[in-house]
Amino acid sequence: MKLLACTSCFDMFALTREKRTCACKKTTGQYVDDTNVSVSGPAKVLGIHNSAFLRAIILPGSMDFKIFTIANSSNCITKE
Ligand SMILES: [Zn+2]
Repeated sequence: MKLLACTSCFDMFALTREKRTCACKKTTGQYVDDTNVSVSGPAKVLGIHNSAFLRAIILPGSMDFKIFTIANSSNCITKE
């Protein structure tokens, strides 16, 4: 699962196949297929391992899971 963080307004949201925009309207992004994303603006792509995320939301109680940054030079990111 990939999320997008705007480094201008610090809004953060999950990426989907539909283009989404941050609160300040400077950053946009969307999935172009199952793994690759297209982003624009002062954006940083974040990743969460799907299995860790599912465990954290399905199991009762609280659980830590890792969110990691993905370099803008990564092959899975197209910068518009
Ligand atoms: Zn923003």
